[in-house]
Amino acid sequence: AKGQIGENVCFYEPSMDESARARRKLASDLRQAIERNELELLYQPQCFIEGGKLSGYEALLRWHHPTRGLVSPVEFIPIAEEAGLILPIGEWVLRQACLEARRWDNDLRIAVNLSGIQLVQPDIAQTVTRVLLETGLTPRRLELEITETSIISDKARALHNLRQIKALGVAIAMDDFGTGYSSLDTLQSFPFDKIKIDKSFLLQSDSNAQAQAIIRAVLGLGQSLQIPVLAEGVETAGHLDLLVSEGCHEAQGYFLGRPGHAPSRLLAESSLSTG
Ligand code: C2E
Ligand code: CA
Ligand code: CA
Ligand code: CA
Repeated sequence: AKGQIGENVCFYEPSMDESARARRKLASDLRQAIERNELELLYQPQCFIEGGKLSGYEALLRWHHPTRGLVSPVEFIPIAEEAGLILPIGEWVLRQACLEARRWDNDLRIAVNLSGIQLVQPDIAQTVTRVLLETGLTPRRLELEITETSIISDKARALHNLRQIKALGVAIAMDDFGTGYSSLDTLQSFPFDKIKIDKSFLLQSDSNAQAQAIIRAVLGLGQSLQIPVLAEGVETAGHLDLLVSEGCHEAQGYFLGRPGHAPSRLLAESSLSTG
């Protein structure tokens, strides 16, 4: 219980202590999550705005915890990073995503999120090369999504590794654009193939003229730099209209499709049901 102030008792906050304990427990559970088959990738469609065709899918990680149920990556990815588990988990994600894309009967791209800790590993380009070879996926079908926050821990190393990865033919997208410390500086020093505008801008655009102005400005920036822009968080027809009228290149969001089960599984199911 809480000590009372003025009683010369240490101030004790059970909530902090409990959340630290909960994190330690999650970290130890996460250690076994791969072997126990508790991790799963969902796939969210990304679409070209002109013509409306699919351009690819983003792989999004889910953890089915044995007692807690579904745990959000927003919660467990930072724990995995802290506990030194992001390397095996990240490699598992990369391999599963490449294997999945390999099963599709098209040449759509698969986008995979890369943690900053993965990005600064001296052997990350070798890891990507090895996974591509092992899975047989053509490098140009792979895109790695990288946030600015993940670059800042060691910019020089991150840049070196990104160049090596790009030399393989793999594309690099800047994720969560607009939410970092100095997105513009990062944009000029890193060789990005795509900019993903963070979903917060589109989600606020209904009620907030500033958010709309920022979306316009980022689209203009992309045009000037000749980098295609994808907008995240398309939840309504109105969001899509805004992107169409502003000339955005690609879109992703619940209005276009929620993260879902592997497209190849759906393919298999539909061919089963049609006999
Ligand atoms: P992110 O990379 O920015 O991924 C987009 C997030 O927005 C996903 O959340 C997605 O489900 C959600 N989203 C998509 N469309 C909409 C929409 O229209 N409205 C709203 N409100 N949300 C939408 P999710 O799957 O919970 O992932 C959260 C974050 O966890 C990701 O953000 C990414 O930073 C991280 N993450 C997920 N999978 C991985 C992974 O395999 N590796 C690493 N390192 N991070 C991952
Ligand atoms: Ca992403
Ligand atoms: Ca985002
Ligand atoms: Ca994010």
